[in-house]
Amino acid sequence: MIINLKPGEDEKTLNKLVSRLEEDGITNDRLSIIRGENSIVVGIIGDTSKLDPRRYQAILGVDNAVRISDPAKELTKLFHPENTVIELSNGHKVGKELTMIAGPCAVENREQLLKAARMVKEAGANVLRGGAYKPRTGPGSFEGLREEGLEYLALAREETGLPIATELMDTSLMPLFEKYDVDIYQIGARNCQNFYLLDALREVKKPAILKRGSSVPLEEFMLAALRIYNGNKQVILCERGDRSVDKVHRNVLNLNNIPIIKQKYHLPVIVDPSHGTGRRESILPMSYAGIAAGADGILVEVHPNPEEALCDGPQSINGEIKRLIEVSRTLYETTRNGCFGNGCCGRHKS
Ligand code: PEP
Ligand code: MN
Repeated sequence: MIINLKPGEDEKTLNKLVSRLEEDGITNDRLSIIRGENSIVVGIIGDTSKLDPRRYQAILGVDNAVRISDPAKELTKLFHPENTVIELSNGHKVGKELTMIAGPCAVENREQLLKAARMVKEAGANVLRGGAYKPRTGPGSFEGLREEGLEYLALAREETGLPIATELMDTSLMPLFEKYDVDIYQIGARNCQNFYLLDALREVKKPAILKRGSSVPLEEFMLAALRIYNGNKQVILCERGDRSVDKVHRNVLNLNNIPIIKQKYHLPVIVDPSHGTGRRESILPMSYAGIAAGADGILVEVHPNPEEALCDGPQSINGEIKRLIEVSRTLYETTRNGCFGNGCCGRHKS
C-alpha cells in the first residue's frame, strides 16, 4: 500500500499516520518512508490485505492511500498457480472442459421444463438451468413456481442425468435446496453483494455460480467471490453485463473482464450472453466472442417456445442451441490449444 501526504505536510502528519499504522499492527520495519522535496510518501511492505486504505485517507493531511497488491490474493494465480477445476455430479469438470449450461429462464410447468431439458441434453449441454424463484423488478410479474419448480428440476435431472443449477435468492430457502439436492447454487446479479447470502454459501457442499452484478467493479466482484471461497472452494464466476447508456441492449456484456480474470485468477469463469445482451440474435455471436476471450463456458437461456415464455423470451434461443454447442466446442478446442487455427502452431493448416 502506498500512502501520499499532501504537499507541504510535515512530520506532525507523518507521526499521526505512523501511530495509526502501529495501532493496526504495522511496525516501523515494514514502512518505507520517502521524503520528497514537496511531499512525503509512505510505502507499507508485506501483506496489507486486512488493512482498510480509507482509514489512513481519513487523516487530515493525507492525500490518498492506494493498495498495490490484490485484496483477493487467495484467488490470484500468484497464490494458487493451477486453475481451479470443479467436478460436477455427472463427472463434468468445469475449468478443464467446455461447460455449457442451458435451460429456461424460469421453470413454468412440468412439460415446459422436461421439453427444455430434453432439448439441451440432446444438443450436448452439461448442466440444466432454470429458475424456481425469480427476482422480478415489479410486483405482479411471474416470480417462479417456487418449491414446485425445484420438484420439476429434480425430475428433469432424473430423466436426463443433467445436474441442475438454480438461483438461491435467500438463506431461508437453503433447506429446500437441500431437500431437492440442487447441484449448483446460482447467486444472481442482484445478490452479488448480498454478503449474508454469500457468507452462507461457505457452508454449502455444492458448487456456486456467482454472477457479477451490474456496475460491480471487477475488484469488488472478486472480493464477493472470496467470501464464498473462504469456506467453499467451488466457485464459478459468471459475467452477465452491465447496464449502460446503450438502449438497444438490456445490458452490455463486459467481455473485457474475461482475459483479465483468466490471466490473474484461478477460478473458472463463464459468460451469460442472454442477460448480457437481452437479444436472441446476439446470443450465438457473443457466446463465441466469450469463448474466444477465454471463458470456460456459457450459460444460456433456452425455451421450447420462446415466443410464449413467461420470462425473458426475447433473450431465449430454441433449436439454435445445437449449433451453439457444436461451434462453441470447435472454438474452445482451437483456442485452448493456444492457436486460432490460422497456421500459427503448425498443427492446423490454413
Ligand atoms: C438468471 O440467470 O435467471 C438471472 C436472473 O440472471 P441475472 O441474475 O444475471 O439477472
Ligand atoms: Mn432470465
